[in-house]
Amino acid sequence: MNSKTPELSFEFFPARTPKGFDNLLDVHAALAKFDPTFFSVTYGAGGSTQAGTFDAVKAILDTGSDAAPHLTCVGSSRDQIKQTIGTYLELGIKRIVVLRGDLPGGMVERGYFKYAEDLVLFIREEFGDDLHLEVAAYPDFHPESASPFTDLQYFKRKIDAGANSAITQYFYNADSYFAFVDEAQRMGVEAPIVPGIMPITNYATLVRFSDTCGAELPRWIRARLEQYQNDEASLKAFGFDVVTHLCLDLLDNGVPGLHFYTLNKTDPVRDICLQLGIVEQ
Ligand code: FAD
Repeated sequence: MNSKTPELSFEFFPARTPKGFDNLLDVHAALAKFDPTFFSVTYGAGGSTQAGTFDAVKAILDTGSDAAPHLTCVGSSRDQIKQTIGTYLELGIKRIVVLRGDLPGGMVERGYFKYAEDLVLFIREEFGDDLHLEVAAYPDFHPESASPFTDLQYFKRKIDAGANSAITQYFYNADSYFAFVDEAQRMGVEAPIVPGIMPITNYATLVRFSDTCGAELPRWIRARLEQYQNDEASLKAFGFDVVTHLCLDLLDNGVPGLHFYTLNKTDPVRDICLQLGIVEQ
């Protein structure tokens, strides 16, 4: 094993069908062997997948793994959020990924909380300090931010409000992550900022995600993926190389952990972790 074994965490999205739920449990079982710190489950802003998030975290907790629901506040009332967190606490949840979220198309009511910072403050006021709160960070900067500097300032406010650590949006340029962390630390942030890692397995999906979430897909990567879009084997081999090298660079520079966006698939994440030597078969 690699001497610099980082803490691992794996992210799922909630299943929409019974078959999808079985798949999620299969992927969980395969990745649980790597002894991750936690599995997180995303949450549709506006509450569209609230039940799916709850079912998934409950099933993961039942296996003995730690599960962290994501919780978005946009479009929600104070009471709704309070009730949801109360239900999670009864379930035994100890960690929540706290987010603002984006209003789904057609929804206009922004709800009680304006930013993730407000939700962090609310959780600390209402529920004390026991929950471990993760917040989002954006090395390529959040698409709505007025400037990189204000985005960093608002990020720091989430930590100052009581967040314990952060998970980044995915990125493919390690320098943007290191610059973000350096700048945040210069501003006084001591909380770990764990890089979010997105395996590359599909051209169209990655381009669509990247165009909306503000994660930069470097031109050389985009061009190669476009070239391989009808050649799945070459695309996956190229994507595997890119992401493995990115992770090596991050590990060599002492990142506190790696958070994988699994997209509910085992192979891409397992192959990268094995290649890095941070897990055993
Ligand atoms: P915030 O931290 O509130 O920031 C949003 C924007 O407002 C930024 O541009 C920031 O610079 C600005 N801002 C913050 N505070 C202030 C202030 N006081 N005044 C003015 N501007 C301010 N989305 C989902 O719907 N479900 C999920 O499960 C989910 N999981 C995610 C997990 C991770 C690790 C990441 C990185 C993102 C995830 N997202 C998810 C996406 C996220 O909801 C969106 O990126 C959303 O647009 C911003 O959420 P946030 O919590 O980062 O917002």
